[in-house]
Amino acid sequence: MGIIVQKFGGTSVATPECRDLVVAKIKTAHDKGFNPVVVVSAMGRKGESYATDTLIDLARTAYKDIASRELDQILYCGEMISAVIMTGTLQAAGLDAIMLTGGQAGIITDNNFTNARILKVDPSRILSLLRMGKIPVVCGFQGATIDYEFTTLGRGGSDTTAAALGSALDAEMIEIYTDVDGIMTADPRIVSTAKILDCISYGEVCQLAHQGAKVIHPRAVEIAMQKNIPLLVKSTFSDEPGTLITNIVPEDTTESNVNDRVATGVTYLANIAQIKVNLHDSLNNIASFNIFKSMANNGISVDLINVHPGQIMFTVSEELADKAAAQLREFGCDVQTTLDCAKVSVVGGGINGVPGVMASFIEALSINNIPILQTVDSHTSISVLIKKSFVHLAVTALHEKFNLSC
Ligand code: ADP
Ligand code: ASP
Ligand code: MG
Repeated sequence: MGIIVQKFGGTSVATPECRDLVVAKIKTAHDKGFNPVVVVSAMGRKGESYATDTLIDLARTAYKDIASRELDQILYCGEMISAVIMTGTLQAAGLDAIMLTGGQAGIITDNNFTNARILKVDPSRILSLLRMGKIPVVCGFQGATIDYEFTTLGRGGSDTTAAALGSALDAEMIEIYTDVDGIMTADPRIVSTAKILDCISYGEVCQLAHQGAKVIHPRAVEIAMQKNIPLLVKSTFSDEPGTLITNIVPEDTTESNVNDRVATGVTYLANIAQIKVNLHDSLNNIASFNIFKSMANNGISVDLINVHPGQIMFTVSEELADKAAAQLREFGCDVQTTLDCAKVSVVGGGINGVPGVMASFIEALSINNIPILQTVDSHTSISVLIKKSFVHLAVTALHEKFNLSC
């Protein structure tokens, strides 16, 4: 039997009771004859002692703008603690587990601290441990540069670790264990009637993840997709079958056609600021060019871009809004910034070219008196920018309008 990568998120490894459930999942795979490679996140969520957010807050008590290289050294500790505790728990259960850091597992990254990109994965050490009958327990979210600097892969990056290892090891399956029963039509914390999706295509889940569904990291999906390795998102806390991410539709799925659904899910991204720039000359392409060039030169990524004669609108992450506006004012631009915005999106592989989707979208928001600040669409999504205070109402209304409830 082949290799299976099993990744357990922060809530799955938070307490001794949770870790016993994790041991059972690993044992089941092992007993079926798979070679499990385990990936763990830091234990717990914000507020808990060794969670990533807690470590960030701790580092920032020393200096609010602490350098990203130093921040990465403390972030490393979260996954290290978790992997040691999980390895010990597996050993106590009679399994021959061994803990590895991201670097020891062969994950080589660039030196873009706190958001490093994986350059290559050398699977030789893990393969030799598997040949010895061991169960490697790898710290998620981590890598190392060729100069042995510790790096992290960006928030939610343990999913990326799992996918990168799965790809390098030619795993049969990558399992992502979390605290929900699978990928749902909306965040169940917002929409209580959200439905589990049995099966979803790589493309759709990538869109959902890019548009804010944090249940899986989009980079992980992209990596798995390149080698067509199936990803299974499921709960540590139940025996529900979970959501299969693949391009091959299983014959017994209850979903119609995973690539053709008009609406698969509703998602949102908060903490966005809208920037409006009024141009003096209504057809000034040079001004537009300078505006976007200056954003790029300052490392500010822009989204929801609308260029009209006389006006340019776009969004930036809220924490960069002041920097962006100050930069634009240096050019003498007339800039208006609206803080506290959110982008709400409906994602569906079959949304493109279907008449009436936009009308339904706008109707759902209008009935609920939600003002629309901007819209944008792609071949698999429609998004609107609204004030953050309307997010719950908008997500719920769109979920209902597109008949996504169970
Ligand atoms: P982990 O620590 O296991 O990686 P995360 O907190 O990163 O877990 O992701 C799981 C959370 O994602 C869920 O608790 C849920 O609230 C949230 N979530 C957001 N959108 C969705 C969605 N469409 N389907 C399922 N969960 C979602
Ligand atoms: N612990 C990291 C985070 O909270 C990585 C992860 O959980 O995937 O972002
Ligand atoms: Mg996560």
